[in-house]
Amino acid sequence: MNKTANPTIPFNWPHMTGKELYYIAESHFNGRLAGDGPFTKRCHNWIETRTGCSKALLTHSCTAALEMAALMLDIQPGDEVIMPSFTFVSTANAFVLRGGVPVFVDIREDTLNLDERLIEAAITPRTRAIAPVHYAGVACEMDAILEVASRHGLKVVEDAAQGVMSSYKGRALGSLGDFGAFSFHETKNVISGEGGALLVNDPAQALRAEIIREKGTDRSRFFRGEVDKYTWQEVGSSFLPGELIAAFLWAQLEEAQSITDNRMASWERYHASLAQLEAQGILRRPVVPDTCQHNAHMYYVLLSPEIDRQSVLSALKGAGISSVFHYVPLHSSPGGQRYGRVHGSMEFTDSQSSRLVRLPLWVGITPEQQARVIDILTQAVNS
Ligand SMILES: *Cc1c(COP(=O)(O)O)cnc(C)c1O
Repeated sequence: MNKTANPTIPFNWPHMTGKELYYIAESHFNGRLAGDGPFTKRCHNWIETRTGCSKALLTHSCTAALEMAALMLDIQPGDEVIMPSFTFVSTANAFVLRGGVPVFVDIREDTLNLDERLIEAAITPRTRAIAPVHYAGVACEMDAILEVASRHGLKVVEDAAQGVMSSYKGRALGSLGDFGAFSFHETKNVISGEGGALLVNDPAQALRAEIIREKGTDRSRFFRGEVDKYTWQEVGSSFLPGELIAAFLWAQLEEAQSITDNRMASWERYHASLAQLEAQGILRRPVVPDTCQHNAHMYYVLLSPEIDRQSVLSALKGAGISSVFHYVPLHSSPGGQRYGRVHGSMEFTDSQSSRLVRLPLWVGITPEQQARVIDILTQAVNS
C-alpha cells in the first residue's frame, strides 16, 4: 500500500495468505482442473468440521448456493418466502427464479436483522420458507425464528454470506436452518474471487443436493463407487466450481482464524474510537448481542437523522477515503416492487438504510489509517 503524502484508503483490499498460487500450481501440476477434486474435498471437510453441518458443497457463489436451496425446497410459482428487504438482491432473486414471491418484513432497530417478532403475522397459506440474513456476520435471533418455522412447518434458509466464522449461542451460522449459504466473494472475509458454499443440515437431503449440483446426475455417487454408472436423476444444473478456485479457497480457509483475528482487532479499534461520537448522539455504533460471536465482516455507523449522509461520504472521498453505503431496500427497488410484496411497516428498513455508512475494513489496514478515517469522519459530522 502506498504511503505518500495524501495516500488513499481503499474500502476493501483483498487479502492473500501467500499460498494461493502454490496450491493452484499443485492442481495444475496434477492435472486436476474440474470440480470435486482433492482441494474441493479439503474445503468441504473444513466447512463440515468447523460448522457441524452434515454436508458442505462448494458453489460458484453464495447466489448459486441460494438458488440450489430454492431448488431443494421445490419452490413453486406463488410460494412465499419471508425475508428482510434490507439485504442483497440474491436473497430474493434465488426464489424469484423459481416463481417464488419474496415477502419483506422489517428489520430490528439494533442489529438490522430480520425482526423475528414480525414473522408470524406475515405467514399465509402460501408461505413455504423464511430466509434470515445474518447482517455483518451478526446472527439473527435464530431460536425464535426456528421455533416459529417449526410451528408452521416452514423451511429456513440462512443467508450466511457474511457469516463465515460467526456463531449464535456457540453454533456456527449456516448450520442452524435447513440450509445455509456462504459467500467467498472478494469483498467477504475468506475469499476465492467468486465463490460460495451450500450447507445442508439434514443428512437425508445431502444426496439430492449433490445431484442438483451435478447437472441433475448422480455423478458424485458414481465417483464414490456407490453406483456403476451415472445418469440423469432429476432437475439440476452445474453449480460446482473448478479445482483452481477450490485450491485458492483452501489457502484462505487454512488462515480463516488469523484473518478473523486480524479483522477483529481493526473492528475493535473503530469501535473504541467511535464511543465518544456515540455518547454525543452523533452516530450509533453496531450492536452485537451477547448470544452472537461475530467475525468482524463489516464496520458501519448509523448517522443521526439530522446529519446529511451525502456530505459525510463526500468529505471522506475528498480525503481519499473510500466509504460506501447499502442497501437500497429491495421493497423500494424496481425488482422488489415487481416480484415481491411488503408485509407491515418498513420503518427501520427505511430509516437505518438511509443513515448507514460503512468504513474501510480489511486485513492489514493500519491503526494510522483508521485514525485518519475517524479524524475525517469526526470533522465531517461536526461541520
Ligand atoms: C455477498 C452477499 C451475497 C452474494 O454473494 P455472492 O457470493 O457474491 O453470490 C448474498 N447475500 C448477502 C447478504 C451478501 O452479503
